[in-house]
Amino acid sequence: MMGLERELEKLVQQRKMEKCEFCHNKMKYEGGGRYRCSFCGMEALDDFGKLRQFLEEHGPTPEGVIAQATGISMDKIDAYLRKGRVEIPNGEKFYLSCERCGCDIRYGRYCPECATKELKNNFISSYQDVGEKPRQNYNPEMSGRMHFINRRGN
Ligand SMILES: [Zn+2]
Ligand SMILES: [Zn+2]
Repeated sequence: MMGLERELEKLVQQRKMEKCEFCHNKMKYEGGGRYRCSFCGMEALDDFGKLRQFLEEHGPTPEGVIAQATGISMDKIDAYLRKGRVEIPNGEKFYLSCERCGCDIRYGRYCPECATKELKNNFISSYQDVGEKPRQNYNPEMSGRMHFINRRGN
């Protein structure tokens, strides 16, 4: 259960900011990939923070474009999406695909149908692997921005 979460934390830790670029005092992690200097108050973002900010500003964007604009590797962006930390909104043209049947999913690794089957075979280690299919006839006008989820505990 905890494996995936740890993996993700490891990704985040790799880029953990210790010192403020401006005054070299200690940075405090504020959550959501955001750091703030305890002395001068300067904010900094790690890769997860940059990804979030980019999506907040630009809305849903294909991974390749995000990678180019932010310098975050496709692998990492994919990992964040796969771990269910960032969802692809309904009405988007770009989705992840179920690793079993290849249908569109907004996050995770398997569509709900496959998840049910895989669960019976005990292939799924975490509920976080289970994604959600995009809704049909969804009106993007109504959908707002990229939606972020922060799952706690498990
Ligand atoms: Zn500072
Ligand atoms: Zn499937």
